[in-house]
Amino acid sequence: MNVSTTREGPRDECGVFGLYGPGHDVSRLSYFALYALQHRGQESAGIAAADRGGHIVTRRELGLVSQVFSENDLRTLAGELAIGHVRYSTTGSNAWENSQPVQRSEGTNGSRREVALAHNGNLINALELHEELAERGVTFSSTSDSEIIAAMIATHPAERVEDAIADVLPRLRGAFSIVAMTKDRVVAFRDPHGLRPLAIGVLDPSPDEPDGVARYCVASESCAFDIIGARFLRDVEPGEVVTLGADGLQSSIVAPGGRRAFCVFEYIYFARPDSRMNGQVLQVARGRMGEILWREAPVEADLVIAVPDSGNPAARGLARAAGLPQDDGFVKNRYVARTFIQPGQELRKHGLRMKFNPLPDVIAGKRLVVVDDSIVRGNTTRQIVQMLRDAGAAEIHMRISAPPIKHPCHYGIDMSTREEMIAHGRTTEEIAAELGCDSLHYLSLAGVYEAVRGNRTTHCDACFTGDYPLAGSETAAGKYSLEDGERGEQEHPVPLARV
Ligand code: SF4
Repeated sequence: MNVSTTREGPRDECGVFGLYGPGHDVSRLSYFALYALQHRGQESAGIAAADRGGHIVTRRELGLVSQVFSENDLRTLAGELAIGHVRYSTTGSNAWENSQPVQRSEGTNGSRREVALAHNGNLINALELHEELAERGVTFSSTSDSEIIAAMIATHPAERVEDAIADVLPRLRGAFSIVAMTKDRVVAFRDPHGLRPLAIGVLDPSPDEPDGVARYCVASESCAFDIIGARFLRDVEPGEVVTLGADGLQSSIVAPGGRRAFCVFEYIYFARPDSRMNGQVLQVARGRMGEILWREAPVEADLVIAVPDSGNPAARGLARAAGLPQDDGFVKNRYVARTFIQPGQELRKHGLRMKFNPLPDVIAGKRLVVVDDSIVRGNTTRQIVQMLRDAGAAEIHMRISAPPIKHPCHYGIDMSTREEMIAHGRTTEEIAAELGCDSLHYLSLAGVYEAVRGNRTTHCDACFTGDYPLAGSETAAGKYSLEDGERGEQEHPVPLARV
């Protein structure tokens, strides 16, 4: 048995941040913004910064934000504008070369264009674009799709970077929320479907500001604004290019009219509950999911508990609707890192206890409603149910604030293969039997949309329905498709690009 102390659920993809802020300590603000976005990626972190007209300096490394940057790094990254990134790999493996921001410096029109770029999402036509650039003699130092985008912008002949982006954007297919910078401006843009989030914030004025122009920032989630004293202004629109520079904020829609397809899973699980997306504060929307779960599947019970932490808001909503008491059924160890000393044979059977320790005094003899946000393969849920049984629970009724996950994501979320998903080819009753619980109910898709005040026409829900909003998604190459060697060949049956 492999012991995993990290969630087996879908993995967050990446978080991005950008700021044009003369008069502000831009690298320090970026550092704290990335801290707030750490839940979106824990494999690597990076910041690129520049003085207007100077060179771009980048510091990126594998590890958490707190491990990657020293006080000295932040001093070296001094400047007037900066972008930042936290990564969970979706295309390309977890290697230093694939950490971001990626930086490219190319000659165009007799001058050099220096671009740094941070990407959240996943291109479904990365192989095609890669081959096209390789034929033009462009070489790459990474195997991530993000460097392809950076190379397309850096090598574009247009004088203004915004014009280069306006030409490149419609050629990219898939999910992308991108923050790029040159030596004198930050440019943020979002795919025409708006699959992944991207928001604009405005900074409180600094006493050191040399002019009266407002300073703006962009981030994957609005929680990054709160930590640096910025205010949420609005979401970047699908297909919109936003420039933050000496003239404040400039915007143009360069790819209008795409089928909107915002990831409905962001509301359920990925984003932080204190973030705001499409007018919804997620803590509140998740509370409504719990209320609707109870309405859809009430049960005789004594106590509501959550699988911490992501099940907490829905558990509160469910307990409120049910009029049942709620308590902590587990204590969570918040200090279990991704890499840790393997427990060895003697401790192996305790598995998940490294992360969740049940509280028998709370649980024993109770008929429990246990709330979690999602189930992918079911291994963690099965162990949680067993731990609760061992702690003396009389009955266990699982309530999941998402529909059954049956299809992989091709837009930047790392999930298991279809065959590994417990809901693939099984009824809810069969899944309940597999998990060992007394009853199981998944929130209906209609319930999700009721909770988030949205509808299917403007969202992606393909991992639940198989209804992919972009044609060709299912034949897109996978995470290691731009890599040479054994790893890619073993994991992907499709022919791989050789760089
Ligand atoms: S497939 Fe699922 S996780 Fe991926 S973008 Fe669509 S809703 Fe989000």
